[in-house]
Amino acid sequence: MLTNPLHRIGALIALVLTTASPALAADARFDSHFTGATLRIDYDHVGTSGEEHVALDRLRVEGPWPGSRTQLLDPLNRGAYLVEMVDLADQRLLYTRGFASIYGEWETTAEARRAWRSIQEAVRVPEPRRPVQIRLRKRQADMSFREISAFVVDPASRFVERPPLPERQPWAIQEKGAPADHVDLLILGDGYTAEEMETYRADATRAAEAIFSEEPFRSRRDDFNVWALPTPAPIAGVSRPRVGLFRDSPLGASYNTFDSERYVLSLQDRRWRDAAAAAPYDFVLLLVNERKYGGGGIYGLYSTAAAHSTFVPYLIVHEFGHHFAGLGDEYYTSDVAYEELGATRTEPWEPNLTALGDPESLKWGDLVAAGTPLPTPWSKEEFEERSHAIQERRRALRAADAPEEELEALFREEREVMTALLGEEEHAGAVGAFEGAGYEAHGLYRPAADCIMFTRDEVGFCDVCARAIEQVIDLYSE
Ligand SMILES: [Zn+2]
Repeated sequence: MLTNPLHRIGALIALVLTTASPALAADARFDSHFTGATLRIDYDHVGTSGEEHVALDRLRVEGPWPGSRTQLLDPLNRGAYLVEMVDLADQRLLYTRGFASIYGEWETTAEARRAWRSIQEAVRVPEPRRPVQIRLRKRQADMSFREISAFVVDPASRFVERPPLPERQPWAIQEKGAPADHVDLLILGDGYTAEEMETYRADATRAAEAIFSEEPFRSRRDDFNVWALPTPAPIAGVSRPRVGLFRDSPLGASYNTFDSERYVLSLQDRRWRDAAAAAPYDFVLLLVNERKYGGGGIYGLYSTAAAHSTFVPYLIVHEFGHHFAGLGDEYYTSDVAYEELGATRTEPWEPNLTALGDPESLKWGDLVAAGTPLPTPWSKEEFEERSHAIQERRRALRAADAPEEELEALFREEREVMTALLGEEEHAGAVGAFEGAGYEAHGLYRPAADCIMFTRDEVGFCDVCARAIEQVIDLYSE
């Protein structure tokens, strides 16, 4: 019989606390400030490209805190936003976490220059025992943070909702230990009907295998719990507004986010989070029951992937790289919905992108072998020529509304050409600074000639991306 792991965690914690051990000193510190539950703060992020506001919506206590009880302050300095929790009595910083948001991407689109928009967001923090101030801060061009919102949360208030945990039971795809010292990955499925729950279960298992087939996830597999949670849909599939297809899927996932053909996100934050509350989770992978190539990934929020695309292993791993470690896209020749920032580019916060202001202080400089030139030469012109030719054919396929198989065939051809081209580089496999990254042909650099954040080639993560991933695993598993 399945038991809800949320209840099991509670039992485990109670058991552990009755045993005296010096190793538990940090846990005791956690217990003096936090109840052990999770507090979810729902808000609306509202604005234009020029101004933004945060409007509090709902405070809600969810299951046991699945994150670390010892690493409460985020040392990674990633993400466009930062949440801070401060003890109201002594101003002590209790918890911080960097994250990115859908709003943060939307505000860089053309739409944000002519219209206001409201996007649902939430942060999950350990529930404090005493009143705290929650501060939301936004990263500035100089990498510092500016406060965009601050409010007091009194956990004793009747405005903090304490609903019963959802009835649904998560399945353990793999369970390696207590959520507090393991990364808890929840794999949700959207657009699967009740009859398709076995398909969802198989897709979720396959998705986990895709992640654990790549380093550094493979070596660190035992640091992960992986959960799945059934959320049956009335009809199969998710929305595709560009072809007039709207489906009321349980988690609200949809293609065409920001009008981009293959960008899949859920803007229904409350909806998927209410469902997810039945499982312990630090990270979320949302599979959509679709064949059409598409996905997305936001640091600290979730990543998505079309479960039945031929390219699903790539989609899952690449998008999960965005979500899990805040990795930036290393590619720059695709059509994307963001406005070009041009030569005014300042240093990005993403750990695998740099403006290379001063090669001496390159943020991954310790991984560059002596003698590797910075910037690092590569066959950029030849790559761009071939890439643009493929982009053109891709646009023609889209214009002709060609079947998915034709796009997949083009991707396979591209993979063959690019794997060969980039694999023969003088500095192939080395860490350097290769110009062309983050949607910019000039002024932004990536760490390696090839990487799963750059192409669909089967080359895995470059050394810089791999280290950035390991640092997040450490943050949730120690
Ligand atoms: Zn990389």
